[in-house]
Amino acid sequence: MNMEQLEAPVPDGAPHGVWSINTERLPSGELCVAGVPVGQIAQEFPTPRFVLDANDARSRARAWKEAMDQAFADLAGAHVYYAGKAFLSKAFARWMYEEGLHIDTASEGELVTALAGGVPGSACGLHGNNKSRAEIERALREGVAHIVVDSLAELEFVNVVAQENNAVAPIYLRLTTGVHAGGHEFIATAHEDQKFGLSVTTGVARQAMARAHELENVQLIGLHSHIGSQISATEGFAQAAQVIFEERVWAHEQGIAINEIDLGGGYGIRYTAADDIAPSPREFARILAQVVREHVEKTGLPAPLVSIEPGRSIVAPAMFTLYTVGTVKDVAIDSGVRTYVSVDGGMSDNIRPALYEADYTAALAARNSQAPTQRCRVVGKHCESGDIVVRNVALPSDIHAGDLLAVPATGAYGRAMASNYNMLPRPGVVAVEDGVLTELIRSESIDDLLALDQDQQ
Ligand SMILES: *Cc1c(COP(=O)(O)O)cnc(C)c1O
Repeated sequence: MNMEQLEAPVPDGAPHGVWSINTERLPSGELCVAGVPVGQIAQEFPTPRFVLDANDARSRARAWKEAMDQAFADLAGAHVYYAGKAFLSKAFARWMYEEGLHIDTASEGELVTALAGGVPGSACGLHGNNKSRAEIERALREGVAHIVVDSLAELEFVNVVAQENNAVAPIYLRLTTGVHAGGHEFIATAHEDQKFGLSVTTGVARQAMARAHELENVQLIGLHSHIGSQISATEGFAQAAQVIFEERVWAHEQGIAINEIDLGGGYGIRYTAADDIAPSPREFARILAQVVREHVEKTGLPAPLVSIEPGRSIVAPAMFTLYTVGTVKDVAIDSGVRTYVSVDGGMSDNIRPALYEADYTAALAARNSQAPTQRCRVVGKHCESGDIVVRNVALPSDIHAGDLLAVPATGAYGRAMASNYNMLPRPGVVAVEDGVLTELIRSESIDDLLALDQDQQ
């Protein structure tokens, strides 16, 4: 078959396309994922639907693991925690674990999902700025690798809960380094007006380290930093690591040995062709290892075990959303006409455009068209004018009801942030690998939603 590769691989082995690596376009114009045409997927699994290129996600996970292992081979090694909040199902957690990753969870539900998928507790971390007693107890019972403590109050709380359970909680402290990054920029600010972490600038971070050292039922093993999301430059990470290392040096001077460092997630991807190409996992790993090496050489402290927590960069490009087009409407605007293309989902399966003004692209998925393109906006079916899926995209002017439309790079924070607004059932996720379809999460039905309703009439 003469298939067109939608995105060519790039140097450094890192695919940078907005489509997953096994997505191709057949001569008929139909998109085909890992050997399965989208028409067949939509037949078996009606739209809207998240379609996961399983091999793509696995290979991105592997790329991070290999890059970190290689870069930190001469130091104390590295762990890669997949940030489960980006997208989690039992099978997906297991696949990440099979690729050598650990799983970051931020709630009891995420932790239980990873465990149910066969990931041992010792390969999970627990995050969150407001953990419940049940979450802490579950984490202790399951023997998680670490609980990331977010505040002085939580430090005391974790200690009490651990004491009541005759346990010692292995903890990281989440520090705010003053470094924030996103896209190409990073900013360093002294005061942090946000809910996460223990401030380095105000000295609360050191207060927490000293207090953790005193407490009997926590064991301070690591320091954590997460500087932001969708970052396509390395400088912010290096800057934050340096701040964390200064804190580590201070701790060692006080007799508090801290030998693990977690530099968080936030590695960027391309949502549209206009987005920057982020450095490859190999490049990120190289820069991080360089900062760690300099710190070790300068201070003579033992090399720390280093973790990172990528979510988006593993799962976002591996999935697209398949929709069916419904109403198509031309609307006069100042500069001419905009065509509104409505699909059978919307902000309930992708809140990111409404929440962050995120940009996506879209493609006619099941046929070729010779028609000229026109300026389109892809919108959902919700009662909200901000219910936009793709703000601006050129689509063939003969697009019509019944066409399949694919929106790429929806794997992260799509299904995970889905809602039932307008009582829409949330779409399921079907994985494709080597021509085989596997349903990871089934679509909800209206009966599922009504099952929650306790009215007895
Ligand atoms: C959200 C988050 C991540 C993952 O971020 P991505 O942008 O998906 O890579 C990692 N660590 C922490 C603490 C987070 O809050």
